[in-house]
Amino acid sequence: MGAIIYWTLVRTAITIPALLLVFEYIDYQLWWLIGIFAIYGVVIHPAVLQYRKFEEKSKEIIENTLCSSCKHFDKSAVLCMKHDKHPTVDWLPCDGIHWELKEGYYEEKADSNR
Ligand code: SF4
Repeated sequence: MGAIIYWTLVRTAITIPALLLVFEYIDYQLWWLIGIFAIYGVVIHPAVLQYRKFEEKSKEIIENTLCSSCKHFDKSAVLCMKHDKHPTVDWLPCDGIHWELKEGYYEEKADSNR
């Protein structure tokens, strides 16, 4: 997730100055049009694609690992906060030793099955 935000900021930091540079050389209305397409095509669309890929890759970890029911797991970053490491489907940073049931896990699971 951090990489998505980082590269979105990098693309924004390049796109906006580039748009300001070409501002003097093209017609004002065309500049707006180019600006909107550039921001969408260079900044927003790649970020959305990266996020979908991240979500797809993370889905299995979020739903089907021991970490998904652990109170130390941060779903949004797919991160074990206790060990500051990213678990995978085949590997848990603590090997299950530090697992602690997340409060409200069963209620959350029941709600998602309805
Ligand atoms: S403490 Fe263990 S079970 Fe809990 S999130 Fe971290 S690696 Fe997963």
